[in-house]
Amino acid sequence: MPETATDTQKLIEEEAKRRRTFAIISHPDAGKTTLTEKLLLYGGAIHEAGSIRQRKASRYAASDWMAIEKERGISVTSSVLRFEKDNIKYNLLDTPGHKDFSEDTLRTLVAADTALMVIDVAKGVEEQTEKLFEVCKMREIPIITFVNKCDRPGMEPLEVMSNVENQLGIEPIPASWPLGYGKDFQGIYDLIGKKLYLLRKEKHGAKKAEKEVYDLEEGLEKAVLSQAEKDRFREEVMLTEDLFDSMDPEAYQHGKCTPMFFGSALNNFGLDVFLDYFSKLANPPQPYENEDGSERVITDDFSGFIFKLQANMNPDHRDCAAFVRVTSGKFERGLEVEQADGNGNKKIKMSTPHTLMGDERHILEEAYPGDIVSLFNPGSFRIGTTIFSDHPVRFNVIPLFTPEHFMKVSTKDPFKRKQLREGLKQLAEEGVVHVFEVPKGVGNELLLGTVGALQFDVVKHRMQSEYNCELHMTPVTYNSARWLPEDQEVIDKLEKSYSTHVTKDMEGNPIVLFDSTYALNQAEEKVGSENLYKFKQN
Ligand code: GDP
Repeated sequence: MPETATDTQKLIEEEAKRRRTFAIISHPDAGKTTLTEKLLLYGGAIHEAGSIRQRKASRYAASDWMAIEKERGISVTSSVLRFEKDNIKYNLLDTPGHKDFSEDTLRTLVAADTALMVIDVAKGVEEQTEKLFEVCKMREIPIITFVNKCDRPGMEPLEVMSNVENQLGIEPIPASWPLGYGKDFQGIYDLIGKKLYLLRKEKHGAKKAEKEVYDLEEGLEKAVLSQAEKDRFREEVMLTEDLFDSMDPEAYQHGKCTPMFFGSALNNFGLDVFLDYFSKLANPPQPYENEDGSERVITDDFSGFIFKLQANMNPDHRDCAAFVRVTSGKFERGLEVEQADGNGNKKIKMSTPHTLMGDERHILEEAYPGDIVSLFNPGSFRIGTTIFSDHPVRFNVIPLFTPEHFMKVSTKDPFKRKQLREGLKQLAEEGVVHVFEVPKGVGNELLLGTVGALQFDVVKHRMQSEYNCELHMTPVTYNSARWLPEDQEVIDKLEKSYSTHVTKDMEGNPIVLFDSTYALNQAEEKVGSENLYKFKQN
């Protein structure tokens, strides 16, 4: 048991050093679920592939989202998967995709120290990956790439590399290389360790595949490929094998380049190589910046910030959970914390902290930097709230993301206008939806904006069940928006233009709405893209 402050700090430092908190960024179907499952399988957290898939199936089989919403299980929208391998503790933050892609998904990335980008070899970078990538780019966190489905016909590795570079503007640095593509896929060459792993498929890939490791030439002899293909492979390896060793660590740390691994999650292939390096490449918890610009040292007293709120998880209690990313110090059950955004320096006792593993909630005794704790929300926690035990700090890490879907909203019952405003204000504060005044000349209703279209259903449902207010929503033509600086000159210029609509959210943040890419381009010409923010720190 540590007795002195230094002992405690040492313990915090050691515990933090072995945490890897990461999130997967990918487009639906690229193989995130399969890879997650394999990571857990290799990590020893599960013994048979299939359990995560079942979870996903139960998530999506209910095509009526409200049916899931009714249960409000933790598994529905978010969870943290924890597993430990070789004394490294991994916290994998779930980033919901498909229909429930929302601002929450983007916010989750603010709590991660590393992003794992999964790409389908046949499809390259897709839309959702691009959106998630934007957040990683803003935060400048390291990105590790896994090119999946190499057992299927797809792009050649060099093509994948240029695809990533062109679409995202990040330089891929190959760390492994596939031997043969598609139906000729025979194995993976570890460009770092200089070993060739030949494929031995297991039935359904449900159990860990036994690997066969060779030196390059020895392995090539065994591979069933034409001489021409073998020659080509040798040439590609020659071209790429030194790239990883000469990777600029600074560029990697700031997400300017990305180590790229190839493999097949379904067949467990390339995963050994990938996992070996993943633990070394993924960042341990990094210090977050205090609002005064200083860094909160991770061995300092406890601090953390709330990146997600989840209301009504238990229909009987109408409770609300707050997900906290621990940024410094040691968190213990019963710890008393203060809130940076002012509730009169009142101490709040954290008596029922939980951690999440799949669908289950476990009572948590202690947590360290990098860990995610789920706390009962005393009501005053908001998205982005900083909490600390002793030494005050305030992080300003969660930006406003620009909404992409819009609806005009009114209440069916004209006597409920007050509930409408109050309810929507509350939901906006929780970070469920953005609420704007409808721009001049477009009507006198309110306008809702979300990152994912499904959020409108959440708003409808919650307004009905919590505020007894039935909403009427009508589509509008806006399809993009940009936050604006508090600069009257910029606002005036945009207000004068026919193709743009300037308005404010309920907190008074100015925003401009566009109904076409053309209008957005026009605005960029008029006020400069540096005055049109995709993310706004509020
Ligand atoms: P997610 O939507 O990104 O979570 O994708 P899933 O993990 O559910 O995978 C989508 C589909 O691709 C499923 O049918 C998987 O079985 C399949 N899949 C995933 N990884 C691979 C792979 O390496 N090779 C092949 N052939 N199929 C894969």
